[in-house]
Amino acid sequence: NKVSVQTLAEKLGKTPAEIIKSLMMRGIMASINQEVDFDTASQVAEEYGILLEEETQETLEEKMFEEEPDSPEDLVERPPVVVVMGHVDHGKTSLLDAIRKSNVTAKEAGGITQHIGASTVEVNGKKITFLDTPGHEAFTAMRMRGAQVTDIAILVVAADDGVMPQTIEAINHAKAANVQIIVAINKIDKPGANPDRVKQELADYGLLAEEWGGDTICVPVSAVTKTNLDTLLEMVLLVAEMAELKANPNKRARGTIIEAQLDKGRGPVATVLVQSGTLKVGDPIVAGSTHGRIRAMMDDKGRRVKKAGPSTPVEILGLSEVPSAGDRFYVAESDKQARHYAEILAERNREQSLRATPNKVSLDDLFSQIQSGNVKQLNIVVKADVQGSVEAVKQSLERLSNDEVRIHTIHGGVGAITESDVMLASASNAIIIGFNVRPEAGAKSVAETEKVDIRLYRVIYNAIEDIEAAMKGMLDPEF
Ligand code: GDP
Repeated sequence: NKVSVQTLAEKLGKTPAEIIKSLMMRGIMASINQEVDFDTASQVAEEYGILLEEETQETLEEKMFEEEPDSPEDLVERPPVVVVMGHVDHGKTSLLDAIRKSNVTAKEAGGITQHIGASTVEVNGKKITFLDTPGHEAFTAMRMRGAQVTDIAILVVAADDGVMPQTIEAINHAKAANVQIIVAINKIDKPGANPDRVKQELADYGLLAEEWGGDTICVPVSAVTKTNLDTLLEMVLLVAEMAELKANPNKRARGTIIEAQLDKGRGPVATVLVQSGTLKVGDPIVAGSTHGRIRAMMDDKGRRVKKAGPSTPVEILGLSEVPSAGDRFYVAESDKQARHYAEILAERNREQSLRATPNKVSLDDLFSQIQSGNVKQLNIVVKADVQGSVEAVKQSLERLSNDEVRIHTIHGGVGAITESDVMLASASNAIIIGFNVRPEAGAKSVAETEKVDIRLYRVIYNAIEDIEAAMKGMLDPEF
């Protein structure tokens, strides 16, 4: 893998002369059109505080499985893919269960409902796919691995409890992913239920109810008495319709691994979500660095199926190894090609784990990333000891935005820096600013592997000073 001096200079936002000089210092004489190897290039980049990344798994896969863009007439409507989020105990699991059960037809009711990681319900003859693991952590964990599978988030807020810390987290996780939010105001059967108060509180977080002139759909429901579940599902379909979700079913399938495990009798078992094309029994597939030929497929009701189109979750058998949740899968042209590509990807992963340098933004190299045009917006997650400080830090930092880079807070909250904060930062390429708080142990280790920059401050002015300096490329390196 090689890169020309010219390209390297462009990537690093330097002049070719500067790069040639850096190379000379290393005893390498190169002209502007000459190529240097990747290791040399990354050493030069490091001098400027930039982590140079080789092809990512994603770009490599895209190259292997390159396909023609779909023409509009090939695209047909596909079901929306939905997750349920919200504060603990507000009824996420109950709501999902209620939706799934109320949707089981009399004929199926006797059968065992299978939990394969995702399920499909039918409303007025149209399908909706639900991811079965509720919560924004699961959602962001997938996103952190590059998987964008969700179209709509149902935000569950208990009518007797209102907006709580994890409600705010869920809102910000969904917003950072550009996912449409529909609010389910749950537990309206309870005596203390106050849906209007919930709407009021949501307005403070930018979700203004439709009936109040905003564009957020709020549906009062009860998972226990099963009130208004139909309306909720109809709203999901309405939002999906407006988003015009489409895919081409007439090509080789690709999609995402939702979950996977090793089954004693059946070998590696994976639940996949088909995102485009149609997956068929007998297809040779590549998933992460594993491959195989699909031996059998089951739907979420445990029925054997021969094919699965866009937005359909199915359990598949036949992979050589267990892939990871969040891995993408592709149907190859042949078994041979599947094996070959899987080997290339496995090889790349081995090298990558030695190098392990995801190209994340950090204050140390912010300036060079701005210069090279890689960063136009610095995303930050702000955690502080009290709400007043969250606001103060947020506002003082956002005010530093200039023509070249915008500072944008994707999440702000009170309390220690959690693993979920780090996952959000990783998935959204953000840095974390902690004010009078510390990271939890779990958060610290995830931040290390994910290379998320966490900065801790006790004085707001110091935070402002650091970001300002980083934007100008004048931050003293941290040792
Ligand atoms: P999760 O943590 O968000 O998944 O919440 P659960 O679904 O586990 O629900 C937490 C508690 O709230 C359970 O005891 C449920 O029975 C109860 N609950 C959930 N939905 C409703 C509802 O609509 N009405 C009432 N009264 N209780 C509910």
